[in-house]
Amino acid sequence: HNHVDHATVDKVQAAIAAGNTHAHLPAYQDFAAYAADGGYATLKDLRTRGDWEVVQDKVLAAGLRGLGGAGFPSGKKWGFVRANPGPRYLAVNGDEGEPGTFKDRYYLERVPHLFLEGMLIAAWAVAADTCFIYMRDEYPAVLDILRREIKALEAAGIVAEGYIDLRRGAGAYICGEESAMIESIEGKRGIPRHRPPFVAQVGIFDRPTLVHNVETLHWIARICREGPEVLNGTEKNGRKGLRSYSVSGRVAQPGVYLLPAGSTILDVIAAAGGMAAGHVFKAYQPGGPSSGLLPASMDDIPLDFDTLQPHGTFIGSAAVVVLSDQDSARDAALNMLRFFEDESCGQCTPCRVGCEKAVKLMQADHWDQPLLSDLCTAMADASICGLGQAAPNPIKLVMKHFGDEI
Ligand code: SF4
Repeated sequence: HNHVDHATVDKVQAAIAAGNTHAHLPAYQDFAAYAADGGYATLKDLRTRGDWEVVQDKVLAAGLRGLGGAGFPSGKKWGFVRANPGPRYLAVNGDEGEPGTFKDRYYLERVPHLFLEGMLIAAWAVAADTCFIYMRDEYPAVLDILRREIKALEAAGIVAEGYIDLRRGAGAYICGEESAMIESIEGKRGIPRHRPPFVAQVGIFDRPTLVHNVETLHWIARICREGPEVLNGTEKNGRKGLRSYSVSGRVAQPGVYLLPAGSTILDVIAAAGGMAAGHVFKAYQPGGPSSGLLPASMDDIPLDFDTLQPHGTFIGSAAVVVLSDQDSARDAALNMLRFFEDESCGQCTPCRVGCEKAVKLMQADHWDQPLLSDLCTAMADASICGLGQAAPNPIKLVMKHFGDEI
């Protein structure tokens, strides 16, 4: 039974017509095109007579939260970083390593200057000395674009040469964790740090550091230019704002869809053209493998920050993967744990040993559920960072909702 109903499809089509999705984005907007369209006027204006606290209020009013997955209110970070004496740094997390997430790439390949202007506005807001962009090396086209467009910014005199320092990641998932990313930027092995101190106080080379995700900065530019309404003007199912869902799996048209933050999985599937031919909706991953899997019957939950916590999961980076009757939830969870086993940095025992043990237990014909539950508790309670803390989610959710498979 495919739950996607036509009323939902119609609503999404209307949203697309109203410009609420990405259909209107240009194929590629270079510096000249962006500047001709009024680009960098906001930044120049702010640099001449702006008050960072006014901009901070706008960002807070828009309700913008960190779109790398943590969801921390973006404007608040500025205050924390500002509270510490300079020199300060800005670091952009462009690692986008959460499997199923490709929204940052989508924006960078089309409108790189919205991101770059947003970054320079945030850098201005905290008076950052240097902007480090930590970019995933698996995105060679994005790296080319950034090299070219940063040069154009330098040539236009918008930034001094070297002010933007583009760094390449080397394929480690854990380097998407902000403190591990900072270690990597410093030239060390990428392993998460203990907190406190927080990176807003002690970040790159022990200096106060503002860390933002790529898409977060894209929205900062848009909020400054178009006002907070660009985000807080949309409301659905009691949720305000918009969310960029990276949709993949058994849908007809995988892709990035910008939808109201109150969208349910049915809205997301409808936006992606419905289920792929011959597939019946069975389960979904709401926000990356750390979010585990929910059954198709739970189809009325708004996929936003805070709304999924009561169900033992979270939206994270909004990487939605749709599974069908031809997929096994058990195999999907095992695949997720294998990923965590590979990507665990190995620094702490509950995660390093826990992921490996979990994989072994999940390969058995019948899962030893009491033992797996104990293991999940130990991992969630005692791991240093989010990888080990959230790795048990797929196990717990499969035990809860897909008991007939294990
Ligand atoms: Fe490393 Fe895992 Fe511990 Fe995080 S939880 S610090 S990834 S071993």
